[in-house]
Amino acid sequence: MTAPHHRPGGGFRNPWVEATAPSFGNVVRWLLVHRTTRPLPKDPDRSVFRRAQPAFAVPRAPRDRITVTWVGHSSTLLQLGGLNILTDPMWSARASPLPFVGPRRWVPPGIAFADLPPIDLVLQSHNHYDHLDGRTIRRLARAHPEATWLVPSGLAPFVRDRGAGHVTELDWWEEAAVGGVRVACTPAQHFSGRKFRDRGDTLWCGWALVAPAPAGRRVFFAGDTGYHPEFKSIGARYGPFDLALLPIGAYEPRWFMRYLHMNPEEAVTACRALGARAMVPIHWGTFKLTDEAMDEPPLRARAAWRAAGLPMEAYRQLLHGGTCAL
Ligand code: ZN
Ligand code: ZN
Repeated sequence: MTAPHHRPGGGFRNPWVEATAPSFGNVVRWLLVHRTTRPLPKDPDRSVFRRAQPAFAVPRAPRDRITVTWVGHSSTLLQLGGLNILTDPMWSARASPLPFVGPRRWVPPGIAFADLPPIDLVLQSHNHYDHLDGRTIRRLARAHPEATWLVPSGLAPFVRDRGAGHVTELDWWEEAAVGGVRVACTPAQHFSGRKFRDRGDTLWCGWALVAPAPAGRRVFFAGDTGYHPEFKSIGARYGPFDLALLPIGAYEPRWFMRYLHMNPEEAVTACRALGARAMVPIHWGTFKLTDEAMDEPPLRARAAWRAAGLPMEAYRQLLHGGTCAL
């Protein structure tokens, strides 16, 4: 029997909802009707996004220590189980196929590319331009040739074509071991596509990481996702997580974005379903993709965290370049 997220005849789909990928009609409705008939929330001045000096361990952190440094958007440097790990690395100026149009970075990358420690593992969640960047992959493949790349089904050729040497593709619930760390590809509710007619051809996913005993520390990276029913089973299989990296931005208007992107309140609900003790909010404050104001997601996420009665010190919001350790 084929898995429910495999499309008959090839490619992938979300097993829990019928249509998640935006239809042409809805794109038109959003851009030409919704946006022109009501006021858009006002964005803050770019200067509100202050930067911090990264404080990750060089060259590597001890095996029992976790650090996360926010590069921006869904890019983080994660130190876990003695490894240096990058999530959805994106160092380019625009999230776009073309260098002169498309969403431009609001804040420079929180870690200068040249300042990266030796990278052991790169995790990619899917192929959208704000997560999978051809130029960054080429730079990483050149500067960190020993790195292992884990990608969801169908993405290996893209990464190999840009010079990465050690690439493994995984389907949902498949696992790999990298330097003693167990890494599992987990379900997400999203879609893929970089051009016309390639929608759903490659898979989208999150990643669960379990460092070896005795410390056995655990981190979850959700990728890009709407709220879906599998967070609890991910927590049951790979938790309890010390930390979850969860997307909180790109959610308005809701009628259009709700199947693709969680809002901040759903991210907090997902954190609880996962059984994660702490949360670092990602996928905000870097590229303007949707209609909410650029500084709204963390205000709402913090409020939802407080309303849920969770300990405030476990809500680990970072500045670009900021590091948290636990
Ligand atoms: Zn995406
Ligand atoms: Zn995204």
